[in-house]
Amino acid sequence: MDMPSRTISDDREEGAADEGSRGFFGKFGSRMSRQRGDASPPVNLHTRDALLLLQNYEESGRGWFWATDANGRITYITDTVAKLMGRSANELVGTAFTELFLPVDSHGERQRTLPFLMTKQSKFDELPLRSAFEGDDRWWAISGSPHFDANGRLGGWRGSGTDITAHRRSAEDASRLAMYDSLTGLANRFNISKKLDTTLSAFAQQQRSCAIMLLDLDRFKQVNDTLGHPAGDALLKQVAERLLKIVRDKEMVSRLGGDEFQIILPDIEDRGRLGDMASDIINSLSQPYSVEGSRCIIGVSVGVAIAPFDGQTSDDLVRNADLALYAAKGNGRGRFSFYSSDLHQSAEDRRVLEEDLRDALARGEMELSYQPVVNAKSNTVTGVEALIRWTHPDRGVISPGLFIPIAEEANLIWPLGEWVLRKACEDAVRWPGDLRVAVNVSPIQFANADLPKVVANALATTGLPADRLELEITESVFLADSKETAQMFKALKGLGVRLALDDFGTGYSSLGYLQSAPFDKIKIDQSFVRGATVPGSRNGAIIAAIVALAEALEMETTAEGIESLDQLDLIRKLNVSHVQGYVYSKPVSQNELIEHADAGSWTIKPAGPAKQRNDRFSLFRKVGAVHGNHRYSVVIRNLSATGAFIEGILDVPVGTQFVIDFGEGQLVTATVRRSMNHQQGVQFEQSLVSDGNGGLCTRHRVSPYLIAAAAQQSGSQIALPAFTTTSDWKPA
Ligand code: C2E
Ligand code: MG
Ligand code: MG
Repeated sequence: MDMPSRTISDDREEGAADEGSRGFFGKFGSRMSRQRGDASPPVNLHTRDALLLLQNYEESGRGWFWATDANGRITYITDTVAKLMGRSANELVGTAFTELFLPVDSHGERQRTLPFLMTKQSKFDELPLRSAFEGDDRWWAISGSPHFDANGRLGGWRGSGTDITAHRRSAEDASRLAMYDSLTGLANRFNISKKLDTTLSAFAQQQRSCAIMLLDLDRFKQVNDTLGHPAGDALLKQVAERLLKIVRDKEMVSRLGGDEFQIILPDIEDRGRLGDMASDIINSLSQPYSVEGSRCIIGVSVGVAIAPFDGQTSDDLVRNADLALYAAKGNGRGRFSFYSSDLHQSAEDRRVLEEDLRDALARGEMELSYQPVVNAKSNTVTGVEALIRWTHPDRGVISPGLFIPIAEEANLIWPLGEWVLRKACEDAVRWPGDLRVAVNVSPIQFANADLPKVVANALATTGLPADRLELEITESVFLADSKETAQMFKALKGLGVRLALDDFGTGYSSLGYLQSAPFDKIKIDQSFVRGATVPGSRNGAIIAAIVALAEALEMETTAEGIESLDQLDLIRKLNVSHVQGYVYSKPVSQNELIEHADAGSWTIKPAGPAKQRNDRFSLFRKVGAVHGNHRYSVVIRNLSATGAFIEGILDVPVGTQFVIDFGEGQLVTATVRRSMNHQQGVQFEQSLVSDGNGGLCTRHRVSPYLIAAAAQQSGSQIALPAFTTTSDWKPA
């Protein structure tokens, strides 16, 4: 539109002095004259051509013209544009030109307004203005210049306009894109971090709290890798939808990128509520998805941090939520974790551990131990499971539950897994008889097409018959029912090895894939078995169903983690064929195994407690106990949600109230219910809640605002009589 408008303004300059208030278009034709009611001036051929050209131009809809008198009232306007405004050109004559547009400020445009420019008699160029007419949601770029008579008095205005609505919309879309994630429609990283900044600074002044959750999907990468990126995208959309069902405020949920999400939860600091919410999110996102006709399962880990307790600026809060997320992942995924200051140390520990893990194999710090799997009826050992053991030179024995996830993340699981396979086969050929050896295979190994080669290699170099090797895999390999999974099963079965489904009952336990995958054994997880002994539990019925199905499919069943005689009893009643647990034997070394196996058929008499003790958290933790204005250092010996056993103060009368300070603003009022010398059983006024990682925490924390206020008032307290602290008492 540039070209014609410039042509006009060039003309304008030339004719400005003699046209006077008639206006530029006055000399052009009859329609113009009709609008103004003037007599037609003479028209020569040259101007007629120009008139036709301009008329064509106006009719093409690409631009329009306008003119006003010295008061800014319309004397001419292109008819087509008047129609777009819902009027005729004649109806608009006499209207103030500025009234055609909305005042600029109402859209937050930072520029000079049209009335201002016209009052100042300034020229303007391509001023973006919005139509003031209802039902006409259009944007115009308006140009105009004043013209003056011979005496320098303002004669009026002339100018042009173009429709910039489409351009404007795409600009708005672009700015929307800058604020929202185009895949899920959720707020993007930029948007949410701005929001968090403003929320936190406003809330700090009003002394309000605000929680954030950081989410990271577990095993999302595998879905992307096995089903492809379009499937990954479709999955992320469904994740966003599920999140919005739980967190209803759409503006507060964002996708930070990849498979990471962030949620802002203003005015929530109740850890019980936040924990419930995090559990809801984990449960919801862990349900199976249907993506492009395939079923897949993922999980999610959640880190929670709460302002002002865990940070008052958005940087601090996000960093701490991230640390909590890291801890949740490290604790086995599919969990949530609240931030606490010890996490800095555990993150550092984990980093160091990862370093050490790189060299552990080479330094010979890894070993295998073997736990017997026993026929539940005859008590004879039918096989053993190889379990990796790491004895760290400084830290001692480190649980595989801790370092296997680190190895998986740090790409160390492949060399580690290969070593385990070879070592287990090597050891097994030395055993008398034909005991089977089971080896755990990480889903990451399972996803590698080289696995069958590595297994075949281990068998060939050691000479172990394939049917003596059993590979244990967890159901997470079914997260995507892809072709690759089926091919891997086929390739492994082709080698003649046995396959066992490990940890059944911990993930999304579906009986469906038992029929399609060629398992020889199902291992029922210990948590599931333990649940079965709880009165009212349905686990027993489910185990019975699994056993029936397994028998029909000619699979064995193994119950894991059986410790007590009542559990063994139940498991036998449910017809589970095999048992692996302390009730028979803990994992033993290669030498011990050979000793037992040498004696001929290896049978073990079950032994253990009659009943499984109900788990209380036995721990050793120093906390503060505040009574009046005395603070005692005590040790928590036993902790449950409703009370604790403390040590460290002598002869406290029953009924005494303490405030137990767990640190980081976690205070709980406790009443002494039992008292024996230096030990007291206390009951909490308000129950503790789960911290998501098997620990407990207080529902609320004392706000740093309150602590700051209290510090100012301190000194006014009245001293109460103090108790004697156990001076001779030493931690056991
Ligand atoms: P898993 O494969 O389910 O192994 C069974 C775990 O339960 C072992 O823990 C075993 O010591 C423990 N257990 C057996 N009976 C009882 C019992 O009666 N009570 C209790 N409380 N626990 C019992 P462990 O050795 O700590 O291994 C933990 C997990 O680490 C294993 O679970 C497995 O998933 C993984 N893992 C161990 N070794 C390897 C390995 O070589 N490669 C891979 N990829 N993972 C391994
Ligand atoms: Mg196992
Ligand atoms: Mg298991």
